[in-house]
Amino acid sequence: ATVPTIRLNNGVEIPQLGFGVYQVPPEDTADAVSTALEIGYRHIDTAEMYGNEKGVGEAVASSGIDRGEVFVTSKLNNGFHRRDDALRAFDQSLGDLGLEYLDLFLVHWPLPGIDVDYVETWKAMEEIYASGRCRAIGVSNFQAHHLRRLFAETEVRPAVNQIEVHPYLAQEELRAFDADHEIVTEAWSPIAQGKVLGDPVVQRVAERHGRTPAQVVLRWHVQRGDVVFPKSVSRERMQENFALFDFALDGDAMGDLSALDRGERTGPDPDTFNYIP
Ligand code: NAD
Repeated sequence: ATVPTIRLNNGVEIPQLGFGVYQVPPEDTADAVSTALEIGYRHIDTAEMYGNEKGVGEAVASSGIDRGEVFVTSKLNNGFHRRDDALRAFDQSLGDLGLEYLDLFLVHWPLPGIDVDYVETWKAMEEIYASGRCRAIGVSNFQAHHLRRLFAETEVRPAVNQIEVHPYLAQEELRAFDADHEIVTEAWSPIAQGKVLGDPVVQRVAERHGRTPAQVVLRWHVQRGDVVFPKSVSRERMQENFALFDFALDGDAMGDLSALDRGERTGPDPDTFNYIP
Protein backbone atom coordinates (compact mmCIF):
# COMPACT_ATOMS: atom_id res chain seq x y z
CA ALA A 1 0.00 0.00 0.00
CA THR A 2 1.44 3.38 -0.98
CA VAL A 3 1.56 6.51 1.13
CA PRO A 4 -1.23 8.98 0.27
CA THR A 5 -0.44 12.63 -0.37
CA ILE A 6 -2.23 15.69 0.96
CA ARG A 7 -2.68 18.81 -1.16
CA LEU A 8 -1.41 22.01 0.47
CA ASN A 9 -3.20 25.35 -0.02
CA ASN A 10 -0.88 26.25 -2.93
CA GLY A 11 -1.41 22.94 -4.76
CA VAL A 12 1.84 21.25 -3.66
CA GLU A 13 1.38 17.60 -2.64
CA ILE A 14 2.99 16.34 0.58
CA PRO A 15 3.29 12.62 1.48
CA GLN A 16 1.18 12.10 4.62
CA LEU A 17 3.85 9.89 6.20
CA GLY A 18 7.48 10.92 6.50
CA PHE A 19 10.60 10.25 8.52
CA GLY A 20 11.69 12.69 11.27
CA VAL A 21 15.33 13.10 12.26
CA TYR A 22 15.17 15.08 15.52
CA GLN A 23 17.83 13.69 17.90
CA VAL A 24 19.41 11.50 15.22
CA PRO A 25 23.14 12.16 15.77
CA PRO A 26 24.72 13.95 12.78
CA GLU A 27 27.15 11.07 12.15
CA ASP A 28 24.29 8.53 11.98
CA THR A 29 21.88 10.60 9.93
CA ALA A 30 22.98 9.63 6.41
CA ASP A 31 22.65 5.93 7.30
CA ALA A 32 19.27 6.35 8.98
CA VAL A 33 17.83 8.39 6.10
CA SER A 34 19.25 5.94 3.53
CA THR A 35 17.48 3.11 5.33
CA ALA A 36 14.25 5.11 5.44
CA LEU A 37 14.46 5.80 1.69
CA GLU A 38 15.10 2.08 1.03
CA ILE A 39 11.99 1.18 3.00
CA GLY A 40 9.97 3.63 0.92
CA TYR A 41 9.77 6.87 2.90
CA ARG A 42 9.73 9.84 0.49
CA HIS A 43 9.40 12.69 2.99
CA ILE A 44 12.12 13.77 5.43
CA ASP A 45 11.59 16.26 8.26
CA THR A 46 14.78 17.97 9.49
CA ALA A 47 15.75 21.38 10.91
CA GLU A 48 18.82 23.56 11.20
CA MET A 49 18.43 23.11 14.97
CA TYR A 50 18.94 19.32 14.65
CA GLY A 51 22.46 19.81 13.24
CA ASN A 52 22.02 16.96 10.76
CA GLU A 53 20.97 18.57 7.45
CA LYS A 54 24.25 17.45 5.82
CA GLY A 55 23.48 13.80 6.55
CA VAL A 56 19.97 14.17 5.14
CA GLY A 57 21.38 15.71 1.95
CA GLU A 58 24.01 12.99 1.57
CA ALA A 59 21.40 10.25 1.82
CA VAL A 60 19.07 11.92 -0.69
CA ALA A 61 21.95 12.45 -3.12
CA SER A 62 23.31 8.90 -2.87
CA SER A 63 19.87 7.25 -3.05
CA GLY A 64 19.58 7.59 -6.81
CA ILE A 65 15.96 8.66 -6.30
CA ASP A 66 14.86 11.66 -8.42
CA ARG A 67 14.93 14.87 -6.40
CA GLY A 68 11.29 15.46 -7.36
CA GLU A 69 10.27 12.20 -5.67
CA VAL A 70 11.49 13.17 -2.20
CA PHE A 71 9.80 15.84 -0.08
CA VAL A 72 12.34 17.66 2.12
CA THR A 73 11.37 19.98 4.98
CA SER A 74 13.71 22.11 7.06
CA LYS A 75 13.15 24.86 9.61
CA LEU A 76 14.46 28.31 10.44
CA ASN A 77 16.39 28.19 13.72
CA ASN A 78 15.57 30.42 16.67
CA GLY A 79 18.58 32.72 16.40
CA PHE A 80 17.66 33.89 12.90
CA HIS A 81 14.31 35.65 13.14
CA ARG A 82 15.52 39.00 11.75
CA ARG A 83 14.91 39.39 8.01
CA ASP A 84 18.55 39.36 6.87
CA ASP A 85 19.44 36.49 9.21
CA ALA A 86 16.46 34.47 7.97
CA LEU A 87 17.49 34.87 4.32
CA ARG A 88 21.05 33.84 5.17
CA ALA A 89 19.88 30.89 7.27
CA PHE A 90 17.74 29.61 4.39
CA ASP A 91 20.77 29.75 2.05
CA GLN A 92 22.82 27.93 4.69
CA SER A 93 20.21 25.17 5.04
CA LEU A 94 20.05 24.69 1.26
CA GLY A 95 23.85 24.58 1.13
CA ASP A 96 24.14 22.08 3.99
CA LEU A 97 21.47 19.89 2.39
CA GLY A 98 23.20 20.26 -0.97
CA LEU A 99 19.84 21.00 -2.60
CA GLU A 100 18.72 23.58 -5.13
CA TYR A 101 15.33 23.95 -3.54
CA LEU A 102 13.43 22.90 -0.42
CA ASP A 103 9.91 21.50 -0.55
CA LEU A 104 8.88 23.14 2.70
CA PHE A 105 10.55 25.65 5.03
CA LEU A 106 9.06 26.40 8.46
CA VAL A 107 9.52 29.02 11.16
CA HIS A 108 10.50 26.61 13.96
CA TRP A 109 9.03 28.55 16.95
CA PRO A 110 7.13 31.86 17.34
CA LEU A 111 9.42 32.96 20.26
CA PRO A 112 7.21 35.32 22.28
CA GLY A 113 8.99 38.15 24.02
CA ILE A 114 12.20 38.24 21.95
CA ASP A 115 13.28 41.48 20.28
CA VAL A 116 12.18 40.39 16.80
CA ASP A 117 8.50 40.18 15.91
CA TYR A 118 7.62 36.90 14.14
CA VAL A 119 5.63 38.98 11.62
CA GLU A 120 8.99 40.33 10.35
CA THR A 121 10.22 36.72 10.19
CA TRP A 122 7.17 35.65 8.21
CA LYS A 123 7.71 38.50 5.70
CA ALA A 124 11.24 37.13 5.16
CA MET A 125 9.68 33.69 4.58
CA GLU A 126 7.46 35.28 1.93
CA GLU A 127 10.58 36.64 0.19
CA ILE A 128 12.14 33.18 0.27
CA TYR A 129 8.96 31.71 -1.21
CA ALA A 130 8.87 34.39 -3.92
CA SER A 131 12.47 33.52 -4.87
CA GLY A 132 11.20 30.15 -6.12
CA ARG A 133 13.71 28.15 -4.07
CA CYS A 134 11.08 26.76 -1.73
CA ARG A 135 7.86 25.11 -2.92
CA ALA A 136 5.89 25.96 0.22
CA ILE A 137 6.36 27.85 3.49
CA GLY A 138 4.78 27.29 6.86
CA VAL A 139 5.12 27.59 10.60
CA SER A 140 5.69 25.34 13.58
CA ASN A 141 4.40 25.66 17.12
CA PHE A 142 2.09 28.57 16.23
CA GLN A 143 -1.07 29.04 18.28
CA ALA A 144 -4.27 30.51 16.79
CA HIS A 145 -3.40 33.98 18.09
CA HIS A 146 -0.02 33.90 16.32
CA LEU A 147 -1.66 32.79 13.08
CA ARG A 148 -4.34 35.50 13.29
CA ARG A 149 -1.62 38.17 13.27
CA LEU A 150 -0.06 36.65 10.15
CA PHE A 151 -3.48 36.64 8.44
CA ALA A 152 -3.97 40.33 9.30
CA GLU A 153 -0.49 41.66 8.54
CA THR A 154 1.02 39.50 5.77
CA GLU A 155 0.17 38.12 2.31
CA VAL A 156 0.97 34.41 2.10
CA ARG A 157 -1.09 31.94 4.12
CA PRO A 158 1.14 29.33 5.84
CA ALA A 159 0.75 25.95 4.10
CA VAL A 160 1.27 23.95 7.29
CA ASN A 161 1.42 24.32 11.05
CA GLN A 162 3.65 21.68 12.64
CA ILE A 163 2.58 21.21 16.27
CA GLU A 164 2.86 18.64 19.04
CA VAL A 165 -0.02 16.15 18.71
CA HIS A 166 -0.54 12.65 20.14
CA PRO A 167 -3.28 10.90 22.13
CA TYR A 168 -2.25 12.67 25.36
CA LEU A 169 -2.39 16.06 23.55
CA ALA A 170 -5.09 15.71 20.91
CA GLN A 171 -5.15 19.45 19.98
CA GLU A 172 -8.77 19.37 18.74
CA GLU A 173 -9.15 23.16 18.83
CA LEU A 174 -5.93 24.20 17.11
CA ARG A 175 -6.29 21.46 14.46
CA ALA A 176 -9.81 22.71 13.71
CA PHE A 177 -8.52 26.29 13.50
CA ASP A 178 -5.80 25.19 11.06
CA ALA A 179 -8.35 23.31 8.93
CA ASP A 180 -10.74 26.29 8.89
CA HIS A 181 -7.90 28.36 7.40
CA GLU A 182 -6.68 25.79 4.84
CA ILE A 183 -3.57 25.04 6.88
CA VAL A 184 -2.50 21.38 7.08
CA THR A 185 -1.58 20.21 10.58
CA GLU A 186 1.61 18.20 10.95
CA ALA A 187 1.78 16.21 14.20
CA TRP A 188 5.20 16.22 15.86
CA SER A 189 6.17 13.61 18.47
CA PRO A 190 3.21 11.57 17.14
CA ILE A 191 3.84 8.75 19.63
CA ALA A 192 4.89 11.20 22.37
CA GLN A 193 8.45 9.89 22.03
CA GLY A 194 7.20 6.45 23.00
CA LYS A 195 5.30 7.58 26.11
CA VAL A 196 1.83 6.57 24.87
CA LEU A 197 2.82 3.08 23.76
CA GLY A 198 2.48 1.46 27.19
CA ASP A 199 -0.97 2.92 27.79
CA PRO A 200 -3.48 0.08 28.46
CA VAL A 201 -6.04 1.65 26.09
CA VAL A 202 -3.46 1.84 23.29
CA GLN A 203 -2.43 -1.75 23.96
CA ARG A 204 -6.03 -2.97 23.91
CA VAL A 205 -6.70 -1.21 20.56
CA ALA A 206 -3.47 -2.70 19.19
CA GLU A 207 -4.42 -6.24 20.24
CA ARG A 208 -7.92 -5.89 18.80
CA HIS A 209 -6.48 -4.87 15.40
CA GLY A 210 -3.56 -7.31 15.42
CA ARG A 211 -1.13 -4.38 15.13
CA THR A 212 1.54 -2.81 17.33
CA PRO A 213 0.86 0.12 19.67
CA ALA A 214 2.96 2.46 17.47
CA GLN A 215 1.01 1.43 14.36
CA VAL A 216 -2.42 2.08 15.84
CA VAL A 217 -1.39 5.47 17.24
CA LEU A 218 0.17 6.52 13.91
CA ARG A 219 -2.91 5.23 12.09
CA TRP A 220 -5.10 7.36 14.41
CA HIS A 221 -3.19 10.45 13.20
CA VAL A 222 -3.51 9.40 9.56
CA GLN A 223 -7.29 8.91 9.85
CA ARG A 224 -7.61 12.34 11.49
CA GLY A 225 -5.96 13.77 8.37
CA ASP A 226 -2.69 14.98 9.91
CA VAL A 227 0.80 14.53 8.46
CA VAL A 228 3.19 12.43 10.63
CA PHE A 229 6.92 11.66 10.59
CA PRO A 230 7.86 9.29 13.41
CA LYS A 231 11.53 9.03 14.29
CA SER A 232 13.49 5.83 14.82
CA VAL A 233 17.00 4.67 13.99
CA SER A 234 16.11 0.98 13.95
CA ARG A 235 15.26 -0.56 10.56
CA GLU A 236 12.60 -2.81 12.12
CA ARG A 237 10.78 0.12 13.74
CA MET A 238 11.08 2.21 10.59
CA GLN A 239 9.39 -0.66 8.72
CA GLU A 240 6.76 -1.04 11.43
CA ASN A 241 5.99 2.69 11.36
CA PHE A 242 5.72 2.64 7.56
CA ALA A 243 3.05 -0.11 7.49
CA LEU A 244 -0.01 2.04 8.14
CA PHE A 245 -1.98 1.80 4.92
CA ASP A 246 -3.19 -1.80 4.87
CA PHE A 247 -5.55 -1.57 7.84
CA ALA A 248 -7.99 0.87 9.42
CA LEU A 249 -9.19 1.69 12.92
CA ASP A 250 -12.91 1.42 13.55
CA GLY A 251 -14.92 4.26 15.09
CA ASP A 252 -14.67 2.81 18.60
CA ALA A 253 -10.87 2.63 18.40
CA MET A 254 -10.64 6.20 17.07
CA GLY A 255 -12.86 7.37 19.94
CA ASP A 256 -10.95 5.40 22.58
CA LEU A 257 -7.61 6.91 21.49
CA SER A 258 -9.04 10.45 21.26
CA ALA A 259 -10.46 10.06 24.77
CA LEU A 260 -6.92 9.73 26.15
CA ASP A 261 -6.45 13.48 25.67
CA ARG A 262 -5.23 15.10 28.88
CA GLY A 263 -3.58 18.23 27.54
CA GLU A 264 -0.15 16.82 28.34
CA ARG A 265 2.88 18.17 26.46
CA THR A 266 6.16 16.30 26.10
CA GLY A 267 7.86 19.40 24.65
CA PRO A 268 7.94 23.13 25.41
CA ASP A 269 4.88 25.41 25.52
CA PRO A 270 4.94 27.73 22.46
CA ASP A 271 3.45 30.58 24.52
CA THR A 272 6.47 30.70 26.83
CA PHE A 273 9.35 28.97 25.02
CA ASN A 274 11.83 31.53 23.68
CA TYR A 275 15.18 29.78 23.89
CA ILE A 276 17.80 31.08 21.46
CA PRO A 277 20.92 28.93 21.05
P1 NAD B 1 8.29 10.39 18.17
O1 NAD B 1 6.95 10.55 18.79
O2 NAD B 1 8.40 10.13 16.72
O3 NAD B 1 9.02 9.23 19.00
C1 NAD B 1 10.33 8.83 18.67
C2 NAD B 1 10.87 7.81 19.69
O4 NAD B 1 9.93 6.75 19.88
C3 NAD B 1 12.13 7.15 19.14
O5 NAD B 1 13.26 7.77 19.70
C4 NAD B 1 12.03 5.72 19.57
O6 NAD B 1 12.70 5.58 20.79
C5 NAD B 1 10.58 5.49 19.81
N1 NAD B 1 9.96 4.70 18.72
C6 NAD B 1 9.83 5.03 17.40
N2 NAD B 1 9.15 4.09 16.74
C7 NAD B 1 8.84 3.13 17.65
C8 NAD B 1 8.14 1.91 17.56
N3 NAD B 1 7.61 1.48 16.41
N4 NAD B 1 7.99 1.19 18.69
C9 NAD B 1 8.50 1.61 19.86
N5 NAD B 1 9.16 2.78 20.01
C10 NAD B 1 9.34 3.52 18.91
O7 NAD B 1 9.15 11.66 18.63
P2 NAD B 1 9.99 12.81 17.93
O8 NAD B 1 11.22 12.30 17.31
O9 NAD B 1 10.11 13.86 18.97
O10 NAD B 1 9.01 13.39 16.81
C11 NAD B 1 9.04 12.99 15.45
C12 NAD B 1 9.59 14.09 14.58
O11 NAD B 1 8.82 15.29 14.74
C13 NAD B 1 11.01 14.54 14.91
O12 NAD B 1 11.99 13.62 14.48
C14 NAD B 1 11.06 15.87 14.21
O13 NAD B 1 11.22 15.67 12.82
C15 NAD B 1 9.67 16.40 14.52
N6 NAD B 1 9.65 17.30 15.71
C16 NAD B 1 9.42 18.62 15.51
C17 NAD B 1 9.40 19.50 16.58
C18 NAD B 1 9.10 20.95 16.35
O14 NAD B 1 9.25 21.76 17.26
N7 NAD B 1 8.71 21.34 15.17
C19 NAD B 1 9.63 19.02 17.88
C20 NAD B 1 9.86 17.66 18.07
C21 NAD B 1 9.85 16.81 16.98
